[in-house]
Amino acid sequence: MNINRRDFVLSGAAAAFAAAGPKTAFGQAPFDVAQGRPTMLTPRSVKPVVISSSNGNRFKNGGTMTCVEKAFSLITKGSDVLDALVEGVNIVELDPLDTSVGYGGLPNADGVVQLDSSCIHGLKKRAGAVAAIEGVRTPSRVALAVANETDHHLLVGRGAQEFARNMGFTIEDDLNTDTSRARWLEWKRRIDPEHYLDPKKRAERGRQVMLDMVREGLLDENHIYGTINCDGVSPKGEVCGVTTTSGLAWKIPGRVGDSPILGAGLYVDGAVGAAGSTGRGEANLFNLCSFLIVEEMRRGASPKDAGMAALKRIAANTIEKRLLNDKGRPNFGLNFYVLNAKGEHAGVSMYDATYAVCTENGPQTVRTEALYEGKPTE
Ligand code: ASP
Repeated sequence: MNINRRDFVLSGAAAAFAAAGPKTAFGQAPFDVAQGRPTMLTPRSVKPVVISSSNGNRFKNGGTMTCVEKAFSLITKGSDVLDALVEGVNIVELDPLDTSVGYGGLPNADGVVQLDSSCIHGLKKRAGAVAAIEGVRTPSRVALAVANETDHHLLVGRGAQEFARNMGFTIEDDLNTDTSRARWLEWKRRIDPEHYLDPKKRAERGRQVMLDMVREGLLDENHIYGTINCDGVSPKGEVCGVTTTSGLAWKIPGRVGDSPILGAGLYVDGAVGAAGSTGRGEANLFNLCSFLIVEEMRRGASPKDAGMAALKRIAANTIEKRLLNDKGRPNFGLNFYVLNAKGEHAGVSMYDATYAVCTENGPQTVRTEALYEGKPTE
């Protein structure tokens, strides 16, 4: 992204300072001595847009709007961008039909729903996250409370739940629905007919059972991993992002994926843009790709090229046989949703996928740019 200085205005006290003071390149803001804070550079005008993983334009939780529609409508009515995005993903978290996020998310190997979420406010430069939190249907709201109410960025497990309780969230004993519990019992029955096998065989068996359940239509391929990432930019060029998930189905209890890790499942720099992910969290954690994507955009890459650079890095770093298909390519899906501060966006994926977009023209589900054709396991 080559930023033309004429496209940007200096806001507030910074404008007066800059009029008299040194000129600066975008991204190297001078320090406003009088105000004791960095100068804000904001785009003169941006067409607002909200993007998300495809489930952000599928689930409505019995209402009338999908996540991207809701977030877009709030942003264009002047709501804080991060508040709007969190309201949007709450629809998906609360919808029991989405078995990849929040209430009714597929549980861990012990049958317990453990949730991860993170959010970043590009303008306020605040971030919050929770990992392996139990009993709260909307972990994104707890992540937002971590960002708004604490000096910390990440709370995990019991501590995260206690924090939520203290902030007035309802804590429930069990977030399973009949569907998520039945799926877990079926998985358990299949992998554990004679109790536990040795750990290696058990891992192989677990994966095979998962693939069988996909083939038989019991599991949605996209929901073995399943998450929602949602990013938005306001007409003033304010960028924010949020990611929320129940993580990998049947994970080892305590396993945390990429979603709540700043720089992995989500990264936002208010002056540059946002990136977030869904898919195999381990591959993203190893490469910290949301951070990488935002840094690529800072160096001038378009959202699509920045996202593709991340996918290529992941493919190059995937060398273990168990993670490769017959063609020697990664045997898993991983998607990134990328938005710059000008409102340009892309969805990129290891294999064919879709993502959701909402603009003034309404919500749409569109194809991502895929690194490889076909399916991960072909
Ligand atoms: N990335 C999430 C995780 O690994 C899962 C997903 O997106 O499906 O926990």
